[in-house]
Amino acid sequence: MSALSMRRGACPSLPEPMQTGDGLLARLQPLAPLTLDQLAGLALLAAERGNGILEVTARGKLQLRGLTPATVPGLPEAVAALGIDVPQGFPVEVSALAGRDPEGRFDPRPLARAISERAAPLVPHLAPKASVVVDGGGLFRLGGLKADIAVSAAEGGLSLTLAGTPFGVMEQARAAAVVVALLQRLAACGPTARMAELVAAEGIESLRAAYGLASPVAAPGEGFDPVGLHALSDGSVALGIGLAFGQVRAAALANLIDAARRAGVTEVEPAAGRALLLVGLTPEAAETLRAIAAGLGFLTDAGDPRRRVFACAGRPACASARLDTHELAATLVPLLGGRDLHVSGCPKGCAHPAKAALTIVGLDEGAGLVVEGTPRDVPARIVPPARLRETIEKDLA
Ligand code: SF4
Repeated sequence: MSALSMRRGACPSLPEPMQTGDGLLARLQPLAPLTLDQLAGLALLAAERGNGILEVTARGKLQLRGLTPATVPGLPEAVAALGIDVPQGFPVEVSALAGRDPEGRFDPRPLARAISERAAPLVPHLAPKASVVVDGGGLFRLGGLKADIAVSAAEGGLSLTLAGTPFGVMEQARAAAVVVALLQRLAACGPTARMAELVAAEGIESLRAAYGLASPVAAPGEGFDPVGLHALSDGSVALGIGLAFGQVRAAALANLIDAARRAGVTEVEPAAGRALLLVGLTPEAAETLRAIAAGLGFLTDAGDPRRRVFACAGRPACASARLDTHELAATLVPLLGGRDLHVSGCPKGCAHPAKAALTIVGLDEGAGLVVEGTPRDVPARIVPPARLRETIEKDLA
């Protein structure tokens, strides 16, 4: 078996949810910002068909958790009945508030649409997690978001990055054709192939020569935390609020929606970084809503240390969990001093596949501590969960 056909990653969708430790999980990527009624409708679906938890992922996608085989049938139709459109072609991710970001370098939506439509026939031949990101730059830039192909603004056109490796610069008019050609090349490698493997197999120089691209620019920098107040190009203000652990319960979301209605919010957009952007506010209304949201338990300050904490559903929600991840993470937040923390109920690491400064992983033998690693790495030590706080206090002192 070649390196290009060794991995396969499932990708949950509305019609095909994925089994997790706390039931079935369905993910959706709305094509347009949501109205408050649509968000309220999703919260109701989460409560009626799932375990009442709605999530916004690190990539800005929405997830309903705790679904069952009895509640999944009809879910896509129920979402469609709310007037929420999801991609029908190849799903392309774009930066939030496209077209309204005052610092945006270009509107990524037309290019994303063109790629999505032209790549639609390739979907059955591509790995389920193959991803294309079109980043308009500006306030809500997506730098740092991993993608098989990432397109971003650059001097002299658009810059392409393949699996994190700078690839080349081209005129905007060529971008859709080049991205689709790269996806075709990837599809030809087999239905599990990912771009990192294609680059390793063919070499970035030889790929660049095949498309006649100008020299690459440096890979885009870090993304932008959407939490906080942001002035938009239409004169209104967007309030970005973070969800602790990327989750919100339907009841808490209903309270936020009520407050958002009173404040004059017109739209809500899920944003990369486990956040919701509430749009259409005056500066005064945004400040008022920010205070209310903070009182409801949402994260309204990008400097909140909980923004650096990742925790999966954990015990008791997930049958695989060996730890009460949320309780543990909340206890440890004051000790972090600006470090990232990942608390994972088991080695699967659902909440954060990347490395964190400190990872705590639930194991049969106890709580494993991993420094600068992931829950799948060998822990530096294993301690009883009851002694975790004391151990970490000593280690971080
Ligand atoms: S990482 Fe967490 S949510 Fe995922 S299976 Fe393990 S315990 Fe469950």
